[in-house]
Amino acid sequence: NQKAVSVLGLGDMGAALAGALLAAGHRVTVWNRTAAKAEPLVARGATSADTAADAIVASELVVVCLLDYDSVGQVLAPHTDVLAGRTLVNLTNGTPGQAREMAAWAADHGADYLDGGIMAVPPMIATPSAFVLYSGPSGAFETWRTVLDVFGESRYLGDDAGAAALQDLALLSGMYGVIAGALHAFALVRSTGGSTREFAPLLSEWLQGMVTWPVAAAEQIDAGDYGENVVSNLGMQAAGFANHFIAAEEQGISAELLRPLHELMQRRVADGHGHEDVVGVVELLKR
Ligand code: NDP
Repeated sequence: NQKAVSVLGLGDMGAALAGALLAAGHRVTVWNRTAAKAEPLVARGATSADTAADAIVASELVVVCLLDYDSVGQVLAPHTDVLAGRTLVNLTNGTPGQAREMAAWAADHGADYLDGGIMAVPPMIATPSAFVLYSGPSGAFETWRTVLDVFGESRYLGDDAGAAALQDLALLSGMYGVIAGALHAFALVRSTGGSTREFAPLLSEWLQGMVTWPVAAAEQIDAGDYGENVVSNLGMQAAGFANHFIAAEEQGISAELLRPLHELMQRRVADGHGHEDVVGVVELLKR
C-alpha cells in the first residue's frame, strides 16, 4: 500500500525518516534547506523538490523534521496557500504549547496536524527499538498510521496536540536524570584514578534495580500519600545525601549536578515530611 509522502528536513533524523519510507516502498519527495543533503536519498529513489512548497504539494502526507519550531515556522509560513488538505506530521522536538499553537495555525490553513516525539536516535529508526509518540486528531492518526509505523512503533496519546511533546520531554527528563547521576558517579570514580570502564557494569547493574521505581513512585503520587510503608525515610536520605558534597570536596570534583535535588530534600524535611518517602519531593515542584 504505497503512499506519496514528503519529508521536509534532511538532517540526521529527517534523512533517517526519509530512508525508512523509501525502504518501505513509499513514493518519497524530499526537501532540505541545504539541497545537497537530498542527494543520497535521490540515489535511493526519492524525488528532490526545489522548494518546500513543491514538496508540500507533492504529497497529502507531509512529515516535518527540522531543528526546532522556529525553523519549522520559517519553512512553512510562506506556503500557507498550499497547506489545505494536507496532513502535517511534525516530528521536530518542541514544547506542548508550541505544538498546540502549530495545530491551531495548521487548522486555520485547512491542514490536519499531528505532533510527534521521536524516542530514538537516527540509527534506531525502522528498528524494533524505536517508538514515536503522536498526538492530534485520531482520524488523521488512523489514516496515516500504517505509513507512520515505518519509523518505529507508533504510540498515540490522544487529541491534545501537546500530549506527545509533553511525554517526550517527560521521558527525556528521566533520561537526563540518569545521565546526570552517572556522570557524577564517573567523576567520583575517576578522581582516584579508578577505571570508569571497570566500574560501569556495576553501575548498570545497580540502575537495573531502579527500573520499576517509577511505577511504585507513581502509585504514591496518585494516592497523594508518601507516608505508607516507608523503609528509607527522607530525613535519613537527606542526611546521607550531604556526604556527596563532602566526598566531592575531598576528591576534588564538583557536585553541582546533585545540588538541586538535595536542596529540595532539605526543604521537604524542613516542612515536616522527614518521616515520609523521598517521592514526596514532587509536591515541591508544583507552581
Ligand atoms: P540536524 O542538526 O542533523 O538537522 C537539522 C535540520 O534542520 C537540517 O535539515 C537543517 O537544514 C534544518 N534547519 C535548521 N534550521 C533551519 C532553518 N532556519 N530553516 C530551514 N531548515 C533549517 O538535527 P536532527 O535531524 O538530528 O534533528 C531534527 C529534529 O529531530 C530535532 O528537533 C531533534 O530534536 C529531533 N530528534 C533528533 C534525534 C537525534 O538523535 N538526532 C532524536 C529525537 C528527535 P540544513 O541541512 O540546511 O542545515
